[in-house]
Amino acid sequence: VASPSRVLVLSIGEELLQGRVVDTNAAYVAEQCLRLGLEVVAMETCGDAPGQLSQVFHRWQNQVELIISSGGLGPTEDDRVRAETAHFLAVDLVEIADAIPPLERLFQRILLQDAPVHFLNQGRMPSGARPWPNVGGTAWAFEVALSPTCIFMSLPGPPHEVRAVWEEGGLGASLGERFGATEEMAFGTFHTVGVPEAKIELEIRQMLEPGRNPKMGITAHGKVVTLSALAKAEAGRSAENILEETASTLASALGPLLFGRNLDTLESVVVAALQNSGQTLALAESCTGGQVAQAITAVPGASQVFTHGWVTYADAAKISQLDVSADLIQERGAVSAPVAEKMAAGARARSGADWALSITGIAGPEGGSTDKPVGLVWMALAGPDGVKSVRRQQWIRAGRAGIQQGAVRDALDLLRRELLNLPSLDSTPPTS
Ligand code: AMP
Ligand code: MG
Repeated sequence: VASPSRVLVLSIGEELLQGRVVDTNAAYVAEQCLRLGLEVVAMETCGDAPGQLSQVFHRWQNQVELIISSGGLGPTEDDRVRAETAHFLAVDLVEIADAIPPLERLFQRILLQDAPVHFLNQGRMPSGARPWPNVGGTAWAFEVALSPTCIFMSLPGPPHEVRAVWEEGGLGASLGERFGATEEMAFGTFHTVGVPEAKIELEIRQMLEPGRNPKMGITAHGKVVTLSALAKAEAGRSAENILEETASTLASALGPLLFGRNLDTLESVVVAALQNSGQTLALAESCTGGQVAQAITAVPGASQVFTHGWVTYADAAKISQLDVSADLIQERGAVSAPVAEKMAAGARARSGADWALSITGIAGPEGGSTDKPVGLVWMALAGPDGVKSVRRQQWIRAGRAGIQQGAVRDALDLLRRELLNLPSLDSTPPTS
């Protein structure tokens, strides 16, 4: 048997094959496997039609030690994973101890009638299987040996239920104990903002070479460029130690571009900085339509630091709500440094917050000109020492949503740098 154990991550459902649902379960399971030191060798998606799952079993049972699937365990007619697995193994479906009565009661309570067999099947599994509890929903997960060398783990489809089985249900810990790497490992991610992926890569090129410890990866998504590092213990040094050394190498190579680790987000870093200084924030948004406020309020504890958010989309709103002068908008246009500055100053004065950030820009696709192309964004930050404005040109090809997302990122980064006394990003790099 191979070490580390090889895994096929299997996603089951017609909706995935038709592109109606994005497969986030495969990403989650793959990352969990990485942390446990299991080697994901392939991901596959199959439909719900009878026979498809058996074909997957036939193709893979001699190639991997584990098949971890999600989907196909629900109460509907197309959820056939239990029955197909039982059929493949030529066994019956059996009741999971104590699982059926709660399902009967639940159905009665919600729909006021007896539960049909499909619904109660969520409390059954192939004979010989081991059940795994699902505190996130009604379908039990199960695991069963397909052969002496291949185990099948069947999880429900809804992403929060996959997490419930893996985490609260204890499946992840059990997989780690039974199949995980015996050598010690440490995994971490490091987030950067302000320059494109290609620039980050240039700074740390040698660390990304294959065969190195830690094994590094680089990804760009929406707001940030993230580096991942998987460290293994070696030559008397712990994995944790190697990971921390990588963290300090990255910190000196990337300086203020590096803003956080693991679960940190730009908004969580900004909220933490405000909490630490005991200061408050107000927002005056135009082209981002409240998305900066949404990002800030997504952080637990935002209520300690966030006081007001205005979405002043029309000129009239900028004038009446934030005391921007009509003449100024007339002369300079709504997307301009002085208007951004007045918006920020107005929001600070009206809210009484320590800091007020404003954003005004052209999200497109219409409304651009030679002087003021689509993607142009002016931001301003009013604080204890006055008001300063920053111009950013977002990448036009990113489209309306991408331009808004880039503006949110740049605004949060402006705040972060100011609050943490980091040098400001004065260039306007093309954002990826
Ligand atoms: P099922 O357990 O097959 O009934 O799946 C229930 C729901 O979970 C589906 O309707 C999808 O919305 C969601 N789902 C299933 N598989 C995935 C997946 N791989 N990634 C994200 N969501 C999924
Ligand atoms: Mg399904």
